[in-house]
Amino acid sequence: MTPRAGDEARLIAAVLQAFEEAGSEYERVLDLVCQLGCELTGDPWVIRLVDDAGMLHLAGSAAVDVETLADIRQTLTGLTMPYERSRVASVTPEGAPVLITPENLAASSHTAQPAIVALAERRGFVGGLVAPMRVRGRVIGVLWWPCRYHLGEHDEDDLRLIATVADRCALAIDNARLVRNLESERNRHAALLAQVSDAVAVVDADGTIRHVTAGGVTRILGWLPEELLGLNMFELVHRKDHALALEGFVHALGPDDMPPLVLRARHREGGWRHLYVSAQNLLDDDVVGGVVVTAHDVTQQVLANALLNDENEILERVATGAPLTDTLDAVCRMIDGHVRHGVSTIWLVDDESHVLVPTAGPNAGPLPNIEPEHSRRGVDFVQLLPPDEISVSTPATGPEWEPWREQAIASGIGCSWTRPIRDAQDLVYGAVILYRSDEREPTETERTAIELGARLAAVAVHRARDADQLAHAATHDTVTNLPNRRLFLERLRQAVARQERGAAAPSVLFLDLDRFKQVNDRAGHAAGDEVLRLLGARLQAVVRPTDVVARFGGDEFAVLCDETTDDEAISVSERLLAAICEPLELAGRRHHLSASIGIATGRSNVSHDALVRRADVAMYRAKALGSGGIVSFTSGMAESPRADLEHDLRRAIEADEIFVHYQPIVDLRTARWSGVEALARWRHPEQGWVPPTVFVTLAEEIGMAVRLGDSVLTRVCRDAARWAHDPVMRHQGLGINVSGRQLADPRFVGSVQRQLQESGVAGNRFIVELTETTMMEEFESAMASVTALRSLGMSLAIDDFGTGHSTLARLRQFPAVGLKLDRSFIVELGEDERSADIVAAVVQLAHAVGMAVCAEGVETREQLAMVQRLGVDLAQGFLLGRPLPPDEVRELLARPPAVQPILTMEHLPL
Ligand code: C2E
Ligand code: CA
Ligand code: CA
Repeated sequence: MTPRAGDEARLIAAVLQAFEEAGSEYERVLDLVCQLGCELTGDPWVIRLVDDAGMLHLAGSAAVDVETLADIRQTLTGLTMPYERSRVASVTPEGAPVLITPENLAASSHTAQPAIVALAERRGFVGGLVAPMRVRGRVIGVLWWPCRYHLGEHDEDDLRLIATVADRCALAIDNARLVRNLESERNRHAALLAQVSDAVAVVDADGTIRHVTAGGVTRILGWLPEELLGLNMFELVHRKDHALALEGFVHALGPDDMPPLVLRARHREGGWRHLYVSAQNLLDDDVVGGVVVTAHDVTQQVLANALLNDENEILERVATGAPLTDTLDAVCRMIDGHVRHGVSTIWLVDDESHVLVPTAGPNAGPLPNIEPEHSRRGVDFVQLLPPDEISVSTPATGPEWEPWREQAIASGIGCSWTRPIRDAQDLVYGAVILYRSDEREPTETERTAIELGARLAAVAVHRARDADQLAHAATHDTVTNLPNRRLFLERLRQAVARQERGAAAPSVLFLDLDRFKQVNDRAGHAAGDEVLRLLGARLQAVVRPTDVVARFGGDEFAVLCDETTDDEAISVSERLLAAICEPLELAGRRHHLSASIGIATGRSNVSHDALVRRADVAMYRAKALGSGGIVSFTSGMAESPRADLEHDLRRAIEADEIFVHYQPIVDLRTARWSGVEALARWRHPEQGWVPPTVFVTLAEEIGMAVRLGDSVLTRVCRDAARWAHDPVMRHQGLGINVSGRQLADPRFVGSVQRQLQESGVAGNRFIVELTETTMMEEFESAMASVTALRSLGMSLAIDDFGTGHSTLARLRQFPAVGLKLDRSFIVELGEDERSADIVAAVVQLAHAVGMAVCAEGVETREQLAMVQRLGVDLAQGFLLGRPLPPDEVRELLARPPAVQPILTMEHLPL
């Protein structure tokens, strides 16, 4: 039965609709397609498809009667054969639809399958049509329309029908197969992407998310893919990275590839992740139709890098000696940069009170209601915490919150994280304490940042304390812990510089204790130090905190009052004086002290050095007026040469610029060298050599006698130690001059003893020369010191004998081994007859009490002859040798003295 044209069109439409509905499941509709053809033609329809291996299989069939259909299905099911060797391929090698005729059947008989030939015979299929289903030149199946009527009864229309149906089927099947391939490809792709840790999304040209792979995005950002669909991806990007992201995206939409960029994206739970993002424009791709955005999580790397940068920055601060609080602020900033919703602070243990004091935390400003007295926690609290852990504590339960629990809860503190800051020796420096509004444990990243913060804080504190200690020792007095001269001068220099820039002038107050020596004498050295400490504290208490109270050494203090008028300086001085005059109880003793104060107030063009000198000058004026005086420097006082000299001497003694020369002493009885006398020498930078009579006296006046004596003795001991194995020098006696002031100083004997010990020079090498006046005036204190010196092996000589109106009878009480006749006697020897008588009498008396006599200032041969004749034992003077530097005196003593031994009756070994 030949269908009509309209029926034909309906058939095609129905076939296409069937395929349309089937989608990729085209197999399901192939029977239906045959059914449609069968209904139209009344004949069976059969579809066989070519599989991947090129084999034909039954794929669809229909027939009007059930029997025929069953026979067809039974025969063809399971019957496979290569298409190339099928009857179809042989009858229509070009693939055009053909009528099946006895001729072409015969031509293809060798390829005919017996089962199909048998089927055709059974069912009376004597003719029919066959059409290969072709797509893109490839045969994918065969549509067979067998019929029982005679060959040749088909017309052109039938041929066109079967060709059209075969064509449409081929296209539909091919399409369905493509879709199916694509789907499976997609599924495979999706499965693959889900395995990758990267997040992959397909977005529209406006950034709307159309597709997100499962897995990656959840792992990285916590979102489920379906939560993101329809969202604009820029909503996930950190505000500060918007511009960057947009620029990159626009770039990706253009012709070139987008260079990858790193930006922050919001995590579902809050906080930000650093993503390494690349984008590929596949908007024109039929399958993808969007921009593929791939994101790789680089948060750890970025954080590690950031921490490294922060660490370097902080270490650099430490290395360059930045102020500690600045450095610790930077540490807090670093921690806050890596911790969400937290405010970090650094608390350090206060050295004195041992409480934790908030020291740094730039963001700690709004920390609510933490009263300072409540915010201090004992160091014990930190000491009890696990040293290397971050302890989480809530105000509700943590014992350390006790005093301010309610306040803390009320102010919204959910918990604190505390990490102790310790040094290498496990000493607790303090703690990093981070306050948060929620209550949770730190994440791995947060932990890392806090640990690093605590370590860096320890380094910074350690370094700062070291530097502090060094700086403190260099700028502070060890006894009183007050600033020393150096720091004082530096502060004064700064004040003078400020004055030059227009600030009010500073004042310098020089303060010298009046009877401090007595405290030392009576109560001892340790008590003296204690008094200085107490007085230092008193002085500090009566000045402004910004003023500087310094100890200049000995019993001298200096006070710098910044921006002070003359009148104010005087009233400050009065307060200082009152503070010193207040009686002082120490170990059951009451001490009454007073002081002299000199004031100098800055004038333009006066250097800080000059200011100190002026205060010094004024102070000596005050001292001269008697104790408890206050004197302001006036231009009338103009720094006198003497004041300059005092100042310079003080400096020279402190700088150890006093030298020693040695003058030889000859033994007239044996005509051999008996020893040398050490004489102090000072060379002033401008004035040249200053006679010791001047500077020794000056040193006594300015309280530097002890210091001067110390430095002379040090030099003598050093030379003697050097001469210890020198045959010329090792047995020479060493005369040293000791002043009354030295003798009276309780530190003197100890200092001598120490110096002997340190140099290894024996005490019995020394002859201590004390002037007659000293012995008489300082009788008691001298006696005690003399006894102590003798116990060190030293002997004693009476110096400048004959100048002090004392009697030998009195001097006998001193266990001296000799006396030195003053030069004035020797000068008079040639001029005055009676002088010789006096000398003779002195010699006789001295010998009577076992003392030797030394003539000083022997300048001429006559004088030498005279003293020799008068029975003088030893002689010293320019004639025999001038005072010389150590090496030169050694050279002189290597030769015998120009003296003939004279044997008097006395010296004869009778
Ligand atoms: P002195 O103890 O009587 O020392 C002897 C002084 O006489 C020395 O003076 C010496 O140079 C000087 N002299 C020695 N032979 C002659 C001479 O033939 N003719 C003249 N015109 N003078 C002679 P110098 O070195 O100027 O010392 C002066 C005084 O300074 C010393 O008198 C002594 O009292 C004191 N002095 C020196 N060195 C020290 C010291 O280290 N400590 C103390 N406390 N006093 C010292
Ligand atoms: Ca002397
Ligand atoms: Ca003398």
